[in-house]
This record gives sequence, C-alpha cells and structure tokens, in this order.
Amino acid sequence: MTDDRRLSVCLSFDFDATSVWISSTDNLAMISRGEFGAVAVPRLLDLLRRREALATFFIPGHTALAYPDLVRAIDASGHEIGHHGWVHENPAELDRRAETEVFRRGLGALAEVAGVTPTGFRSPAGDYSENTIEILLEHGFRYDSTFSGSDFHPYYVRRGDKVSKTEAYEFGEPCELVEMPISWMLDDFPLFEFEVGWSYSQHPPSHVREIWQKEFDWAYENEAGGAVTIIMHPQVIGRGSRLTMLDELIQYMASHQGVVFESLGAYQERWRAANPLAEYRRRGSIHAPLRGSG
Ligand SMILES: [Zn+2]
Repeated sequence: MTDDRRLSVCLSFDFDATSVWISSTDNLAMISRGEFGAVAVPRLLDLLRRREALATFFIPGHTALAYPDLVRAIDASGHEIGHHGWVHENPAELDRRAETEVFRRGLGALAEVAGVTPTGFRSPAGDYSENTIEILLEHGFRYDSTFSGSDFHPYYVRRGDKVSKTEAYEFGEPCELVEMPISWMLDDFPLFEFEVGWSYSQHPPSHVREIWQKEFDWAYENEAGGAVTIIMHPQVIGRGSRLTMLDELIQYMASHQGVVFESLGAYQERWRAANPLAEYRRRGSIHAPLRGSG
C-alpha cells in the first residue's frame, strides 16, 4: 500500500472453463472451447507473476472440481478467488430455493478444493434475480462485481428498488454489499469471441488494447483513487496474440506512477473503510439519493 497510489487496476479472470458451455449444451465440440481455459491459466499465472500483479479469479464450483490443481495454484499464487455460481447458471432463471442451492454448491466446491471462502461474487451470465442480493448478504458476502452503475468508483448496492414502467423509479436503501462496477466494453468475451446468437465480432488485439488503454488513460487523468476493472476469461485472453497484448498493456499501465495492480476484494475493503455505510447513506449520492430530498 503506497501513499502515492493514484489508480488501481483490478484484473479479473472468470475461469469458467467448461461450465459456461455445459450450462447450455452437451455438445462436446462446444464444451472443448472451455477446456482451453485450463491450458491458459498457467500462462496467465506466469504472466501475472512476472509483472508482479495480483488479480481476482471468479470460479464456478463445477470448474473447481474439474481442475482442482489449477484452482489451488491460483490460490497459492496469492490471487483472490471469487464465487461464480455452480455450473455457470443464470440466477434470473432460478427460484429462490434453487438459486440458494446452487450458490451453496459453488461455495462448497471452492472450500473442498482449495479451502477458500470467497467474499466476492460475479454473477454468471451477468444477471441478477430478485433474490440474489439477499442470498449474498445471508452468506456474508462483502462485494459484487456484476453491475454497471458506475465506472471507476464503487458504490453500495441498494436493496428494495422498485422498478415500474408506469411509476417513477423508487430507490431502495444502500446495504452492506459493495459494488465493484464493470462494463461490457472492458470484457474480452464480446470483443474477441464468436458465439452464435450474441457475439459475432472478433477484433484484433490492437483494437481491444486501444479501448482498454484509453479507458485507463482517462481514469488516470480524471479519477484519482479509482479502480479500472477489466474482465477476462482464460479461454479467451489466453490465445497467443491476446496474451502478448495483455502483457504489453500491463507494462504500459505499470509505467505510470502510482498505479497498483490489486484484487477487487482488497480494493473494496479499503474503499469500504474510507466510506462507512452510515455516512454514505447520510451523505446521499446519485446511487443513493437522500429520501425526501425531492
Ligand atoms: Zn462466467
């Protein structure tokens, strides 16, 4: 923790492996796309070690059981492990009982394989059900990294928002869960991968670097104290040309004074300490408007 910290970079890797495909198909050719993620993880661990960068890996329980040695290697390298479902199911498609069950199954697998109890969650498929916030709080989770309500600064997640097409939006109360926000623009999957039905672009690494680097540059100039969160998937970023791009980008970022590579969990704990919930509620913000303030 340096005093001259100016901007944090939170590299995050969703180690979905086969689970992301198994959740929707039993086609072995499709599933093999996920197997490549296991090939890529040692490459990423090596790159992160060389650049002395700590990161966060979100891992479904199903993946942890399939590749226990890799999960233990991630943990042993000092990276954070976060919760990413059981078999990459979409919480929005589950009732509360089923969502709780797969949530606990995912937790159980991470504990069994690596003795890890995560404090952070990223929703598989990027969706939330009406019960997800409560389930996270019930299980003592400290933060989520699924929403996109901000870019470089966290905020407290609200519970009890009322969404209506006919009435004004009603904001709920901020709760103990910190949001480490994300953007699809900073996600490797839609930028690089082909998948029938939703993703047809396969950009060259130089295009992706341009987007990610310019977001970093803007944040460095304008959002001191913030965090740039990048979402990657070992099965996507682990290809040679993309790994080279990532390595060069990390070196570019590291050449800026006061840039720190740290886990989402570490950043949010510091932010939480500097922004106690009670004070945050009193102060009000775009994410938590003061009640009765009109
Ligand atoms: Zn995922």
